[in-house]
Amino acid sequence: MKGLSPRQSTFGWLLCHRKLPTDDIMRKKGISLASKCIMCGFHSETLPHLFLNCSVSRIIWENFLSCFGLIWKDQSSIAELISWWKRKRRILSVKDPWAAGLIIVTDTIWKERNHRWHGGKSRDASLLFKKILRTLKESNLDLKGVIRSTADLLCCRKLGLHAAPGDPPSILEVIWCKPPLAWSKIKIDGSSMENPGRAGGGVVIRDSNGKVIFSFKNFLGISMNYYAEFMSFLHGIRHAMGQRITNLWIETDSVAVVTAVQGKSLPWFALQKWLSLQHYLNSISWKITHCFREANPIADYLAKSAAKTGLSGTMKDFPTHIIEEIRWDSFSKPRFRL
Ligand SMILES: [Zn+2]
Repeated sequence: MKGLSPRQSTFGWLLCHRKLPTDDIMRKKGISLASKCIMCGFHSETLPHLFLNCSVSRIIWENFLSCFGLIWKDQSSIAELISWWKRKRRILSVKDPWAAGLIIVTDTIWKERNHRWHGGKSRDASLLFKKILRTLKESNLDLKGVIRSTADLLCCRKLGLHAAPGDPPSILEVIWCKPPLAWSKIKIDGSSMENPGRAGGGVVIRDSNGKVIFSFKNFLGISMNYYAEFMSFLHGIRHAMGQRITNLWIETDSVAVVTAVQGKSLPWFALQKWLSLQHYLNSISWKITHCFREANPIADYLAKSAAKTGLSGTMKDFPTHIIEEIRWDSFSKPRFRL
């Protein structure tokens, strides 16, 4: 793990694999001893008690978590703590100090326990917390670009870490382009709720004024995003054929679809359908381009709606926010991509 010394990494491994010689583990090995937690002096020493439930440890966790704006949650085992920690890591921006913190906090508790065992003077929770912050600072973690909000800045300050705010985000204007006269533009999108999960495809065909001439949503069962994108692409062409479109501009936010079509290397599951559409594609003018997803809200809505409801069919009535999106495109107004 980034920023940890080999000794700390070894400690982390021992902790995860229940190899630290706490009293409960020693007893399982047949060594009988009267057990008392040397940290609080009340309970018998078990791995979960020492690291999770002991009053001294709890204060340390509470202090550490408060830096991240989080509240300590009772954990029944080290494994549960680790999986909770991993889940939180996904949503936090200050990731490396968070990840390293788990080992540094537990390692500090363990060192204090051993220090007391060997007759050392007890240090209270606030002193131990200061020690944790010092260790974190000395870990030389990479903090470039971690500050994206005031909360991140506050978190680094509380941890005593110096992290400069990153560059301001660049903003890109994304404008939906109307197709040229006599051309139709088809937008396609595929969406899987859990990837893999309930999936749907959306197809919307618009004329050169931006008017919707056809729209369709298709429930695709349980599948991956990748599969849903290709299926929507193929369904889209089939619908264009049904509408007798002769100048067809296909647009998708899936780079995979554009690359596969341009490189003539479609995945196996799409091949049969793709070949069956060749006679139509060879008889018309057509092209395929990539667009950012910000320019694809209508097909995206259709795909998600199919995935959620499990229904397929043509769509005529859109909710107000989608009608607004259609109007927005017709006026060639921009959307913004951060
Ligand atoms: Zn205790």
